[in-house]
Amino acid sequence: MKPIHSIVAGGAGFVGSHLCDYLITLGHKVTCVDNLITGSKDNIAHLRKHRNFKFMKRDVVKPLPSRFRKADYIFHLASPASPVGYMQNSIETILTNSLGTLQLLDICRKSKGKTKFLFASTSEVYGNPLVHPQTESYWGNVNSFGPRSCYDESKRLGEALVYEHLHKFNVDARIIRIFNTYGPRLNENDGRVVSNLITQALKGNDLTVYGDGSQTRSFCFVSDLVEGIWTVISKPKTRGEVFNLGNPQETTIQEFSQLVIELCGTPQTKVIHKPLPTDDPIRRKPDITKVRQILGWEPRISLKEGLRQTIEWYRGRI
Ligand code: NAD
Ligand code: UDP
Repeated sequence: MKPIHSIVAGGAGFVGSHLCDYLITLGHKVTCVDNLITGSKDNIAHLRKHRNFKFMKRDVVKPLPSRFRKADYIFHLASPASPVGYMQNSIETILTNSLGTLQLLDICRKSKGKTKFLFASTSEVYGNPLVHPQTESYWGNVNSFGPRSCYDESKRLGEALVYEHLHKFNVDARIIRIFNTYGPRLNENDGRVVSNLITQALKGNDLTVYGDGSQTRSFCFVSDLVEGIWTVISKPKTRGEVFNLGNPQETTIQEFSQLVIELCGTPQTKVIHKPLPTDDPIRRKPDITKVRQILGWEPRISLKEGLRQTIEWYRGRI
């Protein structure tokens, strides 16, 4: 029997590389398409010799091979994801989430229903939310003209493109909105709070908390997210649906910094405060009622447990 063929756009990134691992263990033939703008070959080095794995260095904004139409699944995870990453690559981010999404949707359109599509959107489509926790039906509070707009607005446009392809061209597509996810392979230099604070603590530097640290985030461990991604694309009746994927355990950044110090075992570490970046969302927590009730998915790894595993991974590299 022919193996299932999955294409992972952005497969050399943090989440994408874990998804490639997961699909390989399911027995899929996996094609990882990545231009390495924020990803790294190191993330997929262990897969390079696997007979079911193929890496293609390619920009999804440019036309893609017509043979991709034979794929069973396309996971569109390509896009810088950290504020530092997308602000440094702002135009590329806009193009990847708009034209790149269009290119990948076009493959699904031409596959005539064979290829299932999943678009990785983000909690950033809710902006600085006025509704808490955030449900999928909330339209968001997004600044269209600011330093985060390249990411937030291009993800929103990506969602609109998915909508049009569902309704005009009958494409088999769904959207996930990912909330802050962390774990091994999170790029040490991409400026996210998890990578910054852990590497600072392990190197004996001060921890940088932006603002007074009262802003909240809800952190999901990457293995939970990857199981969620597979659940959303593989279960029936998800065509045309939008699902939040994240861990509803909410924490302030101040509390998070203390947990990092405790788990790194560095009680001497000091916290210093730096200015809160423009348009930094004040509160963020996913309402995951929909995915829990319809698909039976929920995260299993607590923040403490996930951080322990993540810190061990960084410890081995610093
Ligand atoms: P990442 O930066 O580690 O991975 C993104 C990958 O996409 C990188 O390998 C990058 O090189 C690749 N890429 C970017 N533009 C490309 C292009 N034009 N063509 C081909 N490849 C391209 O980020 P991540 O954290 O793994 O995020 C993966 C996806 O999940 C992104 O779409 C992101 O918006 C979404 N997401 C992630 C989080 C999170 O907390 N990690 C939260 C919300 C949404
Ligand atoms: N943050 C921080 N110190 C850092 C990096 C980030 O206090 O060194 C804060 C940031 O201002 C935000 C939260 O941590 O309030 C999460 O930031 P991150 O860049 O990880 O992701 P975001 O959710 O903002 O996209």
